Amino acid sequence: MKVVVLLGPPGAGKGTVAEVLVDKGFKHISTGDLLREQIRLETPLGIEAKKLMDAGQFVRDDVVVGMIRDLMKDSGADAKFLFDGFPRTLVQAEKLDELIGSLGATIEHVVQLECPAESIVERLIGRRTCEKCGSVYHVTFNPPSNGDVCDVEGCALTQRADDTEETVRKRLEVYAERTAPLITYYEVAGLILKINADQPIVDVRADVVKALGKV
Ligand code: ADP
Ligand code: AMP
Repeated sequence: MKVVVLLGPPGAGKGTVAEVLVDKGFKHISTGDLLREQIRLETPLGIEAKKLMDAGQFVRDDVVVGMIRDLMKDSGADAKFLFDGFPRTLVQAEKLDELIGSLGATIEHVVQLECPAESIVERLIGRRTCEKCGSVYHVTFNPPSNGDVCDVEGCALTQRADDTEETVRKRLEVYAERTAPLITYYEVAGLILKINADQPIVDVRADVVKALGKV
């Protein structure tokens, strides 16, 4: 089993980078996408999570860890997991170590996407996504080829409820307080690959693929 973690603030480009790694056989696991699916299905978990997500706050550790545990429990030895937006707290990082340790594996690399706050606000306010296939676009930096419909599905794109300037600023604060300490946690473990994410998408993707080498 291979496990790679994409770490970085909201809007650093984790989902955008994941799109190319999926072509290399990784199963892309975004806890944000999993939670938005629960919101769409109007499950009790989704209803509870929506309030926190719309306010830019994190969902409880045991809830997200439980979702990851369910996803990984029946995976074979050749599975390749790419985590995006998980872990987001030290507790989640410790639980992930325990979980993959119990499956006989360890984290192979943590790709840290570095991007300044000024770029992030502009990126998130202009983000558009396809709810059907999860493709990520930007009105200026990565527009779809045909007006404002998804290149893959041909359906209308949507703007996330938490991509408003006020909520983005809140999410950046929560990131600095609760997620940034994971950089040291993984540095100590010797797992960090630092990537400059403040450059054009094509270059960020190429740098990540190069840094991961044959993974
Ligand atoms: P994350 O998954 O880290 O929250 P996304 O991959 O969803 O971030 O990217 C956030 C927004 O920024 C999207 O609209 C995406 O198209 C855009 N974006 C991603 N990477 C870059 C980049 N290197 N330069 C400019 N815009 C980018
Ligand atoms: P994302 O799609 O990664 O930007 O996540 C959107 C929102 O979902 C976050 O702002 C959190 O409210 C919630 N969320 C996603 N992943 C996690 C996680 N690992 N832990 C706690 N909350 C999460």
